[in-house]
Amino acid sequence: MIKSSIMKKQEIILSYTIHETTDSLSSLDAELINDARKATEVAYAPYSHFHVGATALLKNGKKLSGTNQENASFPVGICAERVLLSMIGQLFPGEAIETMAISYHDFNNTISNKPISPCGMCRQAIHEYENRTQHPIRLLLTGMEGEIFEIADAESLLPLSFKGETLKKEKDQ
Ligand SMILES: [Zn+2]
Repeated sequence: MIKSSIMKKQEIILSYTIHETTDSLSSLDAELINDARKATEVAYAPYSHFHVGATALLKNGKKLSGTNQENASFPVGICAERVLLSMIGQLFPGEAIETMAISYHDFNNTISNKPISPCGMCRQAIHEYENRTQHPIRLLLTGMEGEIFEIADAESLLPLSFKGETLKKEKDQ
């Protein structure tokens, strides 16, 4: 006998805004983009020559930037986003992040004009920070020029994410 079971399909839609240039952004957002682009100058990427800069605007109004830090032992390297999150966690523990702008300068190519996208590990890290502070982090993704993708939060980029609550023990509840 075949057991009957119910099946249903679910759909997750990602909606985001594409800005052709910084002209359609607020001056504060344009400044964050500018800071992220400028931060790429101090990335340590002697192996990939792919410089990434990330700038965060905190709820307290402070701005901080991070860059990728590579290593001759490749897996030791850290992405700009996680360098930045670690710095914020250390300097301003528990402070919410309003917006994170991320840009890159790819020295292997003449132009860096396609919006960058955070890697899977960084999506997880940014989303953890959202959960930690109970506050969405708006993302502005860009290159040294060209379009900017504006995404409401990191959770949108990580559907069905693995969350800390999954690790809760019965005695915690
Ligand atoms: Zn990453």
